[in-house]
Amino acid sequence: ILLPIDENHDQVKNNVKNVVYSEVTPRPLERNIRLVCASDDALINILDMDPNIVNSQEFVEFVAGRKLPYGALPVAHRYGGHQYGLWVGQLGDGRAHIIGEYVNRLSKRWQIQLKGSGPTPYSRLYDGRAVLRSCIREMIASEAMYYLGVPTTRAAAVVVSDESVVRDMYFAGSPRRERASIILRLSQSWFRFGSLEILARGGELDVLRQLVDFVIKEHFPDINLTDDNRYIRMFSEIAHKSLDLVAKWQGLGFTHGLLNTDNMSLLGETLDYGPFGFVDSYDSGFVANCFDGEGRYALGKQPDVVVWNIGQLAIALEPLLTASQQSHLSHILKTLDTYCKNKILETFLMKIGLKKERWGDEELVEKLLDMMQQTGADFTVTFRQLAELQPHELSSELKLAEKWSIKRLASHSCWGCWVDQYRSRLDKEAVDTSNANSTGLFEDERKRRMISMNPAYVPRNWLLHEAIVDAEKDDFEKVRFLLQVIQNPFEIQPEAEIRGFSSQPPIWAYELKISCSS
Ligand code: AMP
Ligand code: MG
Ligand code: MG
Repeated sequence: ILLPIDENHDQVKNNVKNVVYSEVTPRPLERNIRLVCASDDALINILDMDPNIVNSQEFVEFVAGRKLPYGALPVAHRYGGHQYGLWVGQLGDGRAHIIGEYVNRLSKRWQIQLKGSGPTPYSRLYDGRAVLRSCIREMIASEAMYYLGVPTTRAAAVVVSDESVVRDMYFAGSPRRERASIILRLSQSWFRFGSLEILARGGELDVLRQLVDFVIKEHFPDINLTDDNRYIRMFSEIAHKSLDLVAKWQGLGFTHGLLNTDNMSLLGETLDYGPFGFVDSYDSGFVANCFDGEGRYALGKQPDVVVWNIGQLAIALEPLLTASQQSHLSHILKTLDTYCKNKILETFLMKIGLKKERWGDEELVEKLLDMMQQTGADFTVTFRQLAELQPHELSSELKLAEKWSIKRLASHSCWGCWVDQYRSRLDKEAVDTSNANSTGLFEDERKRRMISMNPAYVPRNWLLHEAIVDAEKDDFEKVRFLLQVIQNPFEIQPEAEIRGFSSQPPIWAYELKISCSS
């Protein structure tokens, strides 16, 4: 359902209806374009490209929006959304162009998108550009999430130009000029909750039905298009996938920062990396986004917010449902809080090496997080060090002295008591699992399992910040190094250790504020 280019002027007035896409060509970056970084994995395994292609002028011009692949049909997608809990109507795509679909050699279909590629009919008053800073953040974070095992949109490359745009930089105190960039993003689909909300709110019900059926056909192969309950089934799948996703976020201390309904993928992928942050010192109240004064999108509130967002998706689907289907849907909604809570508990149990919940486990996890919160222990490193130490070493001052983050945690008055409980719980687990009757074997297995759940490296804001500062001076070494490190987040890498990637962050890291402007 496409609006041709010559009718696009109507949409500037925000009054276009019954449209899902507008045809619109990218506005290329012009001045002095160069490659900032690229993901070899995305190039090779998604786009079937030789990674050396990044050295060609043609590739750089493609990402800059100057050359379109043969058969491309660039479009901007029309969607709306709730921002900070309020319905704000039509929002985008204000600066992204889906340039076509590519079916790769694995027969997987990918939608190729440029972001920062110029104005569209949905740009409102904005310039259609993205700055280098935000493209680097999105590039590194989306690739990191992929390697951390979290469903996410992907990124293949970033280019920068000498074209400058004005953005409000929070920490500079006044508007500042930054350089325009484009990021090449990839996903199976860019549809969001807001893609359906805008149609439902506008009463565009025929198009809504067509779009939902299309989404089911393309992305929910297990749901039959002739099934009368297909919308309920789709809703239930999206709801549960979104909550599985939020459980993974909580397990990594990942704070999305801007969980508006237009940033909620219908595929349950992490979507739109703006003012996100991986928490350093654990704090469930951690707010990554400095514009979020009320802390609506704080780390600890993400599960509730995602459930709220799913409620908005339910409202968008209601016009397609019969009365009994609507009550079925509200019944599903009522189960989501518990589902999410259990998923999160499961995640944290895995993080401390426990496969199956036993009585008292919830308290064990809660106590650990409470101690972390009270001592300000580092989220990522604490769990990693818990994995690395043997259980009996948790009571050894000598051993703890080698582990800066657990050492901090161990200063808590309840530490000794918690370690006793934890160790006896691990003993039970060993009995449960040991067929070889050997604690040594269990210990190896526990360690392996915990290492695979607890990364050594995540793209912390301070690491991104340092890489961006250099990139703004045209030195992309740190960006590329960070990109390389996060491709193996569970493996200790000597050079990353030397550069302090898993050491205590510098003092200024804790003061860093991330702005929404991008
Ligand atoms: P976000 O708050 O990042 O989810 O963005 C909300 C909407 O604003 C998205 O649809 C973007 O396409 C749009 N947008 C953000 N920045 C710009 C910009 N510089 N120019 C045009 N549209 C923008
Ligand atoms: Mg967005
Ligand atoms: Mg954004």
